[in-house]
Amino acid sequence: MARVYNFSAGPAALPLKVLERAASEMTEYGTSGQSVMEMSHRSRDFEEIINGCESLLRSTLSIPDNYKVLFLQGGASSQFAMVPLNLMNGSGKADFVLTGQWAKKAYQEASRYGECKAVASSADKTFSYIPALDPDTFTRDADYFHICMNNTIYGTRFTELPQTGDVPLVADMSSCILSEPVDVSKFGLIYAGAQKNMGPAGLTVVIVREDLIGHAREITPTMFNYQIHADSGSMYNTPPTYGIYILGLVLEWLQNDMGGLEKMKAYNEKKAALLYDYLDSSKLFRPTVQGKDRSIMNVPFVTGQEELDKKFVKESVAAGFVNLKGHRSVGGMRASIYNAMPLEGVEALVAFMKEFEQNNG
Ligand SMILES: *Cc1c(COP(=O)(O)O)cnc(C)c1O
Repeated sequence: MARVYNFSAGPAALPLKVLERAASEMTEYGTSGQSVMEMSHRSRDFEEIINGCESLLRSTLSIPDNYKVLFLQGGASSQFAMVPLNLMNGSGKADFVLTGQWAKKAYQEASRYGECKAVASSADKTFSYIPALDPDTFTRDADYFHICMNNTIYGTRFTELPQTGDVPLVADMSSCILSEPVDVSKFGLIYAGAQKNMGPAGLTVVIVREDLIGHAREITPTMFNYQIHADSGSMYNTPPTYGIYILGLVLEWLQNDMGGLEKMKAYNEKKAALLYDYLDSSKLFRPTVQGKDRSIMNVPFVTGQEELDKKFVKESVAAGFVNLKGHRSVGGMRASIYNAMPLEGVEALVAFMKEFEQNNG
């Protein structure tokens, strides 16, 4: 059976090399005589896996020493509550930029715990752009300022960070982490579900500045307290062991096969440019996002005719391109082209789209 080109927004494609390596180690990891899945998380073998994974993540993202890396569960969605429970401990206020459904969910969840302000929104145009931000409108004594760095559903991304001064910037990077270098020191906290660009679902990575840990609210559940996880090296309870192992393999692939984050970024930009260039020139397809806000990870596009969109999705599946159907709130199509999508996949997709345009234009 041939592998398809998988444009899923998440859980998403993983590098074939990583899957093959995992397959080769499935029943026996090293000389342990067991699968990573069967291993005690307190064993020496697993200790090496989690420490290796963390140190690779630290070197890949150049994470400063005064940041903790936490390997958690519960998805990015749990962070919508975990962030306010741990960080909303001064004024009890936080600012949000509403750039899509995930940003809105983070805002709504945090609103249960404190005074949240939406400083800007792009809801007026179906979140197809990143709104301009005026620092004068920011809450000066906010406990944090939250953005969703890459908007998975709408295909937009922040290319400039808000100037929040001393207010810690918190970013949901679920769908863009590891796609390009980021200056971690500009953020108080970064979180991401693994299932887009890092590994399988079930692992959530949190990168948090140390001074933001240790001030959780009294009512915070133990499992939602960053300090508990930081103090126990993500081993307070059983961490998502297999996901951590796969993330380690993905990071090895990123370093050894892709040449690191700078090269990964260039590769991702090349893939995105190929698709956007075609979309901009097409008379049938139209990208839903314009200009610099365009995501290089998620590319939504439409024909403008629902029936034709349906036909395209149907024919694309038959041609070996899966998960191109757009999110129901945007309609049309969406190609998620995360790190693991090879250039050949995007080339093949564009060729297929050209052919479709010829037959249906
Ligand atoms: C997928 C996604 C989420 C939700 O992640 P879960 O791990 O399913 O909770 C949140 N934010 C962004 C930006 C996402 O892409």
